[in-house]
Amino acid sequence: MKDFVLRHVKRLNEEEIDIVIEDGKIAQVMKAGDGHGEHVIDCSGLYVSSGWIDLHVHAFPEFDPYGDEIDEIGVKQGVTTIVDAGSCGADRIADLAASGEKAKTNVYAFLNISCIGLERVDELSRLEWIDKGKVVQAVKEYKDIIVGLKARISKSVVCENGIEPLRIARALSSETDLPIMVHIGSGPPKIDDIIPLLEKGDVITHYLNGKQNNLFDEHENPRQVLKDAIKRGVHLDVGHGTASFSFKVAEAAKRHHIALNTISTDIYRMNRLKGPVYSMANVLTKFLSLGYSLEEVIAAVTINAANWLKKPELGWIKAGDVANLTLFAVENEPITLIDSDGEKRVSDQRIETKGVVANGEFIKC
Ligand code: ZN
Ligand code: ZN
Repeated sequence: MKDFVLRHVKRLNEEEIDIVIEDGKIAQVMKAGDGHGEHVIDCSGLYVSSGWIDLHVHAFPEFDPYGDEIDEIGVKQGVTTIVDAGSCGADRIADLAASGEKAKTNVYAFLNISCIGLERVDELSRLEWIDKGKVVQAVKEYKDIIVGLKARISKSVVCENGIEPLRIARALSSETDLPIMVHIGSGPPKIDDIIPLLEKGDVITHYLNGKQNNLFDEHENPRQVLKDAIKRGVHLDVGHGTASFSFKVAEAAKRHHIALNTISTDIYRMNRLKGPVYSMANVLTKFLSLGYSLEEVIAAVTINAANWLKKPELGWIKAGDVANLTLFAVENEPITLIDSDGEKRVSDQRIETKGVVANGEFIKC
């Protein structure tokens, strides 16, 4: 189905519209009921936003545990664009690019500075796995999909190497002109030694993790390094994952008015099937339950992510653009939510994805 109309769909401000899709593009955005086309899809009661973007996923199914099928964590989740967060280094980025070509979901990637990527989970424990020449070459060859470099700077990944891998990432960042996404977790290295190395445009993923070495002190106040990083323009990304989202920390962040930049899942097979991630909608519902407005929550997977990617067109709905849209409902039904530490919260509302338009193709969720 190439030409169709999404009828009576709601913008976040409740305004009802029709969206006419022709040849994979948004042909017209018009008053509800006025859109005409070969096929009409009744979307009464559903919201529409630009297609959701998940800035942190693991989309390379061969790697265990951190891997999954692209469309399982993409379009089937209401997500039309995924950014693989360093599953692959220079050795396998070609394979990720090739499977991205075949998927319905749009695929971008952070290149792991370790050539072996997540083939092992201690990929930065030996510095010889960081081959600068190969990294630079891969960035050149796959410049259409690589949007940044990934360095996982926590104890089990770097082992004895401390922040040396991050220093190398910094040098590679200048050489390639790409930002770094840094995963934080248990130390050493200490968070106070990691964060000052990050610059404007770099991304801290897992910023709401509840581990010892996190961005908040024992009184749940933001550490000085976090406040300074925000001032410098460092980007904060949720990266929920199996072990990296704490309601207590998220509540502290909200109390201290730490801006919500991007919400991402860090989804892969295991945490999709067994939780605590399950789905993008489930993660978004957690932020509704924290008291963020629907507009703020959806902005964190649309315009905020699109702007970080320097692809603002992915974050709006405009005639003439390739049609990437997400259709969803907000149901007034109670749901019990669980964070990475097993803490529970009950929300009286939940977000449910109903479908996407991915590169002009309508897919029901
Ligand atoms: Zn991580
Ligand atoms: Zn991850």
